[in-house]
Order: sequence, then C-alpha cells, then structure tokens
Amino acid sequence: MGTIQESLPEKEVSAEPSLNAPPPPTRARQSLPPKGSCWYCEKPLDSVRRFCGKECADGFDEEAEFTR
Ligand SMILES: [Zn+2]
Repeated sequence: MGTIQESLPEKEVSAEPSLNAPPPPTRARQSLPPKGSCWYCEKPLDSVRRFCGKECADGFDEEAEFTR
C-alpha cells in the first residue's frame, strides 16, 4: 500500500515588461504608398500591400540603403 502524492510542477511566470524598449527605426519602405503591386518585383497585389512578401520588403530595404 502506498500513498500517491500528486506533485504539481510550479509554473514560473517570467514576464519581462519591455516598456522601455525603443521603437523600431522607420524603414524607407514604410513611407511608401501601396500601389497595387510589389514595389520590388512588380507582382500584382491587393491595394493595401506594398510587398508580396518579407523577402521583397527586405530586398527593397537593402536597395534603399545603397541608393540614399
Ligand atoms: Zn515581390
């Protein structure tokens, strides 16, 4: 005969408030108006998006870095 003791693991809540985190720097692409197609590869998009994907957005940023 044995007694079964349930041992509940203690949950550690590690909340790190990032109130003092600085906002991300404004990228050149964020000031672009949506034009209905990808600014980088000219792929047709809906009227609210500027890039078809993250790769194009990153590619555009890299070009903007060199052309400023
Ligand atoms: Zn694209």
